[in-house]
Amino acid sequence: MIFRQHLITKANCAVDVPSYLTSEAIRARNLRRVRDKPKRGNIDFTAPSEREKLELQQKFNHIRTLLGGRLAKASNYDMLLELTHLFIQKNSPEVTTVDDEFEDSGIYQATDGDKTTEQMLLTTPSSIQNLVSRLGEHGRVCDAKLQCVKTNMMGHTGRLQFKCNTTNCEPHRFSWYSSSFLPNGKFLVNYRMLHAITSSGLREQQYETICGCANMGFSKKDYRKTFYRMYQPIVAEAAQESKENALLEETASYYEVGEIEVMSDARHATRKNAKQSEIVFLSDRTHKCIFNAVITRDEDDCTQRHEMGGVRSFYQWADDNGVQIKAHAHDRNASVNKYLREQRPDVINSLDTWHVTKEIGKQLKKITGGARKNHGKIWHQELADKGASIKTHFYWCMKRSMNFLQEQNECEETQAEAVQLLRRNLLNIVDHYRGNHAQCHEQSRCSMPGYEPSHRLLESPVAINLLTDFIMNNTIYKQAGAYIHCKDTHYVESYNNVCLLYQNKRVVFSNGMYRMRSDLTTLDWNENVDRPATSVTFRHDARAPRRR
Ligand SMILES: [Zn+2]
Ligand SMILES: [Zn+2]
Repeated sequence: MIFRQHLITKANCAVDVPSYLTSEAIRARNLRRVRDKPKRGNIDFTAPSEREKLELQQKFNHIRTLLGGRLAKASNYDMLLELTHLFIQKNSPEVTTVDDEFEDSGIYQATDGDKTTEQMLLTTPSSIQNLVSRLGEHGRVCDAKLQCVKTNMMGHTGRLQFKCNTTNCEPHRFSWYSSSFLPNGKFLVNYRMLHAITSSGLREQQYETICGCANMGFSKKDYRKTFYRMYQPIVAEAAQESKENALLEETASYYEVGEIEVMSDARHATRKNAKQSEIVFLSDRTHKCIFNAVITRDEDDCTQRHEMGGVRSFYQWADDNGVQIKAHAHDRNASVNKYLREQRPDVINSLDTWHVTKEIGKQLKKITGGARKNHGKIWHQELADKGASIKTHFYWCMKRSMNFLQEQNECEETQAEAVQLLRRNLLNIVDHYRGNHAQCHEQSRCSMPGYEPSHRLLESPVAINLLTDFIMNNTIYKQAGAYIHCKDTHYVESYNNVCLLYQNKRVVFSNGMYRMRSDLTTLDWNENVDRPATSVTFRHDARAPRRR
């Protein structure tokens, strides 16, 4: 009972304690005292002599007097802060000192900790000039300080509202845009940014992320739509002009006027069942894009037929513009082959050597190795060390036919001869490995005196038969006519690589957007193909003797 009474008295007493004496208030006050208490810091230094130490201290005093003004000296802290600011400003890598009569002093602004995520906006010198004039106008009628009270973002443009703190009259107010206006009423900086983003191939999603992270505002989706409606035709026009110039350049590089050689390839927008495909035609000598067609599934719902559609529209375009095609290289698309054979018999149909020789490597594995029980039936030990060199031989055979055609006047007869030569040279591969070099090229290593074969000689009739069959069943032997020009379409492959900058295979674009992006690829390619390298790396140690 007594215990309960004691508790009640205690509780009543607690009510009477003033609020500033409660334990929470005391704790908060103690914390505040610790936080707000100025902190001491020391910098020790060692001067070479007492005299030099005094001199330095005098300089410190002088700076403190200059900083504080007539009435009071500035503190050591203020002095050190000013000195560090001046040093950083002078040595900042961002400030490039220009030797002119304009002073840079007083431009150093330290960033406050809470302002590092401040809104950024884009502006131009002429807009800043406009702001300076407005400030001057205000200064002529009022000496009160102007303050920025609000910032609104319109894309990358900021609308800043200024208000002065005068007490003599109603405060002066004005707003300022960080960008000037284009004739269509849109902001210059917004359009410039959208142009930069689009022509660099960045996706819209990446643009939003970058600008969001930098807190610099970005143009909204509807705004971009309006922009692209104006921008797409301009890109298309520029790409058209670039292709026309490329055609003129290519035509000028031939002796026979009006006949050109081309190479083509198709690229699908996505990996499977693509919505759009782009078929690109590059000229054979300047390697620039002279024609490209975008075929969409709205026009033909089978993606595999898109390449043929593009080829057909190319020949339609060539007919309409009076461009005569002498030769056409592509990577062995069956329907293109058929079309050229049946519809365009006067065009030389060349197939890409890279694709076909790449396959040889794979096919050779079947006769150069296998299960022990099949040895001597479908593969042979004597062929095991020859895989890579047979592939090179195939390539040299095509090259020899091409050289033959270049030396002779190319006509139907010489082409037939070149086909014969190619087949003969291909079959000579077997003789070469049997040690009979009568038909080998006079400049090849095996025709030199003292030649010793680096591969095992073919002796087994099974191995000889296997290799002969392999050669005679190969595409290059069968369709020899398509390989006598030894064309390769690697330029189109690297064109497709440039496409990746503008059209990611994992992203599905609308038809309009895809067309614009393929036009941007054309512009990029035609500007940069075959230009000299911009960066050269010298390896200084390359010639230095290697030490062990
Ligand atoms: Zn004012
Ligand atoms: Zn030989």
